[in-house]
Amino acid sequence: MRHLITTKDFSNEEILALFKEAKDFLDEKPRTYLKGKSVTTIFFENSTRTQSSFETAATRLGAKVLKLDVSKSSSSKGETLFDTAANLDAMSPNAIVVRHKHSGVPHILANYTHCPIVNGGDGKHAHPTQALLDLFTIMEHFNYDIKGKKIAIVGDIKNSRVAASNLELLPRFGIDITLVAPPHFMPNYPLKKTNKIKEVIDEVDIIMSLRTQTERHNVPTYASLKDYANDFCINKELIKDKNIIILHPGPVHRNIDISDEIMADKRSKVLTQVKNGVAIRMAVLKKLILES
Ligand code: ASP
Repeated sequence: MRHLITTKDFSNEEILALFKEAKDFLDEKPRTYLKGKSVTTIFFENSTRTQSSFETAATRLGAKVLKLDVSKSSSSKGETLFDTAANLDAMSPNAIVVRHKHSGVPHILANYTHCPIVNGGDGKHAHPTQALLDLFTIMEHFNYDIKGKKIAIVGDIKNSRVAASNLELLPRFGIDITLVAPPHFMPNYPLKKTNKIKEVIDEVDIIMSLRTQTERHNVPTYASLKDYANDFCINKELIKDKNIIILHPGPVHRNIDISDEIMADKRSKVLTQVKNGVAIRMAVLKKLILES
């Protein structure tokens, strides 16, 4: 049984095959590959894009979607996560997509279920489909010629599962990473690091801006988001007319992470990422369900 818990679960060859398929799915036409199958989504942590993206993906492939409303679920009545999982599994879905605020939950659930588990984001640990869609967006933009391209990952890297998954995935495809963050958001990875985005802005081809993960901070580690914005907001003054693309997994803190002006700029790929996300999740669900 294959699961997607981290980006390490797929080889580079498998990822390139997924991208080939996702490229076809960008036509947004309905398919019947998963006709008669069902996909359950259970998001214990809030989500706007990811949950609806998975549901759109499953529906576009012809599957039925069962969306579990966690606020009404038995876990709010004291049922353990494992019993919830075992009960879901007893209904024989063909895949379960799960998000949880604790790292490791999708991995544990995989031991209690008989279908593929897809990690829709677990704590600070991983968000594999986000990293896959980020890489796909980069590949598509640069016509698959990405070896040696330089990316600055900017913001709350330490607390971001999106960053964690991208730090695993992007170097496998030859992308050169610089981490840009204030000291309290800088993780301990052996990569190039700076606290000043201006130091790298002339060298990079891609900027990945990240949201400050306030929900994961035990104590506020900065004076205010405005102070953060003064140093790290991606705005016109910073990027001028440079030939650069800007990614963000969303939700964007406007004028903190990225300015209004740059959000509306052609170089911002934020909505392209959302569109690509559906195609990538279609390819992932199809692979996991039909190969299991
Ligand atoms: N949507 C992404 C996540 O779930 C990024 C974020 O929330 O900042 O991790």
